[in-house]
Amino acid sequence: MCPAGRREYRVRRERDDLMAGMITHCAACGFDARATPVAHVTAQIGVWGSRVEEEYRDCPPAERGRRPATDRWSVSEYVLHLVHALSTSRWFVEQGLAADRPELTPPDPGESVAAEPAGTDDELAARFGRRVDRLTEVLVSLGPGGYERTIVLGWSRIRGEIGEVPLGDVARNALHELVHHHRDLVDVRRAVGAPAAEAPR
Ligand SMILES: [Zn+2]
Repeated sequence: MCPAGRREYRVRRERDDLMAGMITHCAACGFDARATPVAHVTAQIGVWGSRVEEEYRDCPPAERGRRPATDRWSVSEYVLHLVHALSTSRWFVEQGLAADRPELTPPDPGESVAAEPAGTDDELAARFGRRVDRLTEVLVSLGPGGYERTIVLGWSRIRGEIGEVPLGDVARNALHELVHHHRDLVDVRRAVGAPAAEAPR
């Protein structure tokens, strides 16, 4: 388990409003799921996906893999986490379309990032872009009433909670991941790219 991932989720749980494991309001980035009409979510996922990709591509390659602290992810690790988060969201939506109230257990986000090298090149950006596109496609395919279909999540490995979640909230949660970690990318870039203070003469 990656310590950064574990810390991130523990901190979130302590300060956020949660509904069946999904964040409804995030104190850190200000995202409010209840203020986001589901009809706007799919387009917003595209907008924020572009912002994340831009932030990654603008980051000098030498800085992408650098952690600002041992317990904080690098730019590449945050993008890799988003690759996994968007994949998981798409899987939730596909399963919720294929069956009534399927019981699903998502992978542990920290373990997923720790299990593979993030890479620091354009391949990761391209992979991220494909995940945004594929999630967008499956959300567009939901059609009328699709957002009200539900999945049953067993979050026992992460939060010890189990709950029924509408696919609309799965989509909102994916949007929150993008908004929240875009902010992290900006912060981490500032931290690792800042010029070192000059030594006193
Ligand atoms: Zn947030």
